[in-house]
Amino acid sequence: MLDNSKEPATLSATVESLVRIADRHTAIERPVCHTGTKDSFRSQIDVSLEDPTGASPEELESALSDFLRLNPDVGRLGFHKQLYSGVNLPAVLGEWVATLSNSVMHTFKVGPVSNLMEAEVVNQLSRLVGFENGEGLMVSGASQANLVSMMLARHALFPDLKETGYAGRELVAFVSDQAHYSMARAANVIGIGTRNLVAVRSDADGRMMPDALRHAIEAAIKDGKIPFYIGLTAGTTVLGAFDPVPKAVALAREFGLWVHVDGAWGAPVLFSQSHADLLSGCDEADSFTWDAHKLLNVPLTAGIILTRQKGWLHAATSGGGENYLFHKEAKQEQPEPELGELSIQSARRADCVKVWSAWKAVGRDGFAQKVDHLMEQKAHFLAYLNDQPDFDIIAPAPYLNVLFQYRPQHNSIAEPDVSKLNVAICERLAETGEAFIDYASFSGRTGIRMILAHSDISELYLNDLCDRIRQVGDALEIEQQKSLL
Ligand SMILES: *Cc1c(COP(=O)(O)O)cnc(C)c1O
Repeated sequence: MLDNSKEPATLSATVESLVRIADRHTAIERPVCHTGTKDSFRSQIDVSLEDPTGASPEELESALSDFLRLNPDVGRLGFHKQLYSGVNLPAVLGEWVATLSNSVMHTFKVGPVSNLMEAEVVNQLSRLVGFENGEGLMVSGASQANLVSMMLARHALFPDLKETGYAGRELVAFVSDQAHYSMARAANVIGIGTRNLVAVRSDADGRMMPDALRHAIEAAIKDGKIPFYIGLTAGTTVLGAFDPVPKAVALAREFGLWVHVDGAWGAPVLFSQSHADLLSGCDEADSFTWDAHKLLNVPLTAGIILTRQKGWLHAATSGGGENYLFHKEAKQEQPEPELGELSIQSARRADCVKVWSAWKAVGRDGFAQKVDHLMEQKAHFLAYLNDQPDFDIIAPAPYLNVLFQYRPQHNSIAEPDVSKLNVAICERLAETGEAFIDYASFSGRTGIRMILAHSDISELYLNDLCDRIRQVGDALEIEQQKSLL
């Protein structure tokens, strides 16, 4: 018996409903996004749950179609707002199957196949990073992976801290001033305090400066604090910059610190023969973050934490659950700890199934081709922008982010107004539903942050986009001048 007699009575009726929703979703020409206030969305879709009697299957199907219609279309070529774009259909299929299985990851017995799939995903990613005796786990996203990496680092230095707490010890972590904000959240959650997360200066390319890192470490020691963690970023969110791994590793060895690489966005360069050198030396790091839901385009969420050695995750996280979940008898059959003893989550979805499915269908070579294709398009794009006197690249673009400004030549406008104009261009393109692109700032200038993540990006597409940016920018300027008259 189903929980609700009004639901479609069979799985196949549910799948048929899904097929109709999907057909409607792909059939119509739609804007890439809708903009508006909460009230304007509320007026277009009824999200109320006030009706106590429940809806018919047809009503539910129609509401879910509206949901797809009104939310941004992340699968479309015009979607550049986040660090992912497009749809990996094999991954979507895997995700649906994982949902059907409702498999949980914490013990082998309740998720035998998903446990094996996760081990294989972790094994393949570890090999790319160069962790030969490594281990890993899927987590809720890169934010959690970064959090866990700080726990690992803390445990490596003070194995007693897990039980005793800080007991007056003041630990300090170091990241660059371009690091993802999840590092600050991690410092908050593990309780060192966000002031003990030092934002080390980055250079004009957005890379952490090794000399500044050394000074920051020495200053912390002088203050009586205990440095324990260096968090490097491989592919920063604004510039796509890669922090210098070998230099940071050398400093870490000198001072006895942990080195973590946050590769949420940039790690996929490791698939590519031509671009893996952006991460050379990363096999010397202690832990590594991936996000398969970024460039690999697996449905949200698919974060992974990898460690250079086996046993570190268990040591830092395990404890509890032995009386009912992690049975001793089971352990005797399998000497390895259960995945649930390596994780800060209890119930954990089988996110590995969608990653595994994407990998099974695309293959390592397919991922490499995607990286190579997009890096090639990026190079064309940079060359094109450099050729146009009215476009200006704000900082070097080593990866798939390009931060640039439209600067009309016919009119000399001051920097703050150029920044404002570029923000307005992004907003106007979203309002018309042509393209959903974000803006970002670096060294006091705000520009359009183009993200090249969709596999179908081509030279023609990028040139057309620039034409539209120019047209929209000029139209906005004319509107502005009229409003001043
Ligand atoms: C996206 C991103 C994160 C956060 O990842 P979530 O999966 O959203 O938690 C962390 N670091 C970097 C560099 C990122 O690009």
